[in-house]
Amino acid sequence: MDSDKIMISYGDQPKKMVKELLSKAEIEKEINKDSLIALKPNLINPSRSENGATTDPELTKAIIEYLQAKDFNNIIIIEGSWVGADTEEAFAKCGYNKIAEEYDIPLYNLQQAEYTKKNVRGMEIEIADKALEVDYLINLPVLKGHCQTKVTCALKNLKGCLSDAEKRRFHKRGLHKPIAYLNEVLNQDLIVVDGIYGDLDFEEGGNPVKMNRILLAKDPVLVDSYAAELLGYSASDVEYIEIADQIGVGNKFIAESSLIEINKDQAEEIDHSSRKIKKLAAIINEKDACSACYGSLVYALKRIEERGLLSKIEDQISIGQGYKGEQIAGPGIGICCKDAEAAVLGCPPAAKNIINFLEKEYDL
Ligand code: SF4
Repeated sequence: MDSDKIMISYGDQPKKMVKELLSKAEIEKEINKDSLIALKPNLINPSRSENGATTDPELTKAIIEYLQAKDFNNIIIIEGSWVGADTEEAFAKCGYNKIAEEYDIPLYNLQQAEYTKKNVRGMEIEIADKALEVDYLINLPVLKGHCQTKVTCALKNLKGCLSDAEKRRFHKRGLHKPIAYLNEVLNQDLIVVDGIYGDLDFEEGGNPVKMNRILLAKDPVLVDSYAAELLGYSASDVEYIEIADQIGVGNKFIAESSLIEINKDQAEEIDHSSRKIKKLAAIINEKDACSACYGSLVYALKRIEERGLLSKIEDQISIGQGYKGEQIAGPGIGICCKDAEAAVLGCPPAAKNIINFLEKEYDL
């Protein structure tokens, strides 16, 4: 798989989607048979993936099944939850103890590990030895908002490989520079982003947004800068992405030609269970919208609300396959609403593109 590409699958069947992506990327061709392969999910706290914070165990299972079928048998799972949460509890609650048993895969709790201090550009970073030993690291971040850094995805997920003391130091150092530096010393070979459910604005979950997509990539800077756009930001809004780009960890997303979409999302019943999302949904007219599209609009409206500008959008916004061919008054989202008074195209459009469109329409 080329490092300048991001492969995308839309839908809500993570196991099938991940296997298809892995097969198209032919990852087995780049791994030695005796390599130590580590899967690094995001189990920040003991909560189910539908809550928006943690990696869906079905993604992890799909990778293990794919690799074991190709006769790769030296696979481990590594993770250290955030300070204050117990990794053992997260392994149990998020379904990873069951995975360990079913597939005979050891789990390594990196909150209780041996660590080595690595000097990166004059900054000492204490990293779990197990993470440093790995030959092929598969990062499984969740695509979600973050209360301090705005976005969390591939680059930041490696923070789970630190000691708790180091995690605290990262916060004291302002997070951005150490996150970028950590990625210079700890290389991720493959990234499988869980974009089925993410959180609107908080890494701990609680306001899940269904985004119905899985991304596969090799470059964490590329995938994170694209992830920023999916959540309604630019890469330049997220300092650690900029720093990682500058120090050569990877290259930022600049062109749609980097995207390889292997399918399209399907319409399904939209579920907005959280109060915050219900509030945003009040200005949306939805008819058979795909979750991927609807999720983009929710993230876009949230970013506009954060700037105090939501009330300037005086019309209802239309979205969904049910509007195909209809002359709609007011703005429309996605190719299905191309006959609206004004529309942003794309299928689905990224939140960043929706924001640019609404900014122009309403002079935000
Ligand atoms: S534009 Fe239409 S088909 Fe495409 S993602 Fe949106 S609702 Fe679905």
